[in-house]
Amino acid sequence: MAVYVDASLCKSCRLCIANCPKNVFQTTHKVNKKGYNYVEAVNEKDCIRCKLCERICPDFALHIE
Ligand code: SF4
Ligand code: SF4
Repeated sequence: MAVYVDASLCKSCRLCIANCPKNVFQTTHKVNKKGYNYVEAVNEKDCIRCKLCERICPDFALHIE
């Protein structure tokens, strides 16, 4: 069980942060090759596997296993 973030695809739109019911995501100060501060699953242990983030990410950067 895991929340995977493909940092190279994230464009920091924050939709996952706004919509995750468990506040799993946070933006970081790390910058990807596109120049965006990508998100990380900082509270992965709280994830309830609803897969909302996976469906909502416009850039297919998230994957729930
Ligand atoms: S919804 Fe996708 S592109 Fe937007 S911040 Fe989250 S991971 Fe990044
Ligand atoms: S699957 Fe649901 S609870 Fe888990 S990170 Fe995605 S939106 Fe949040």
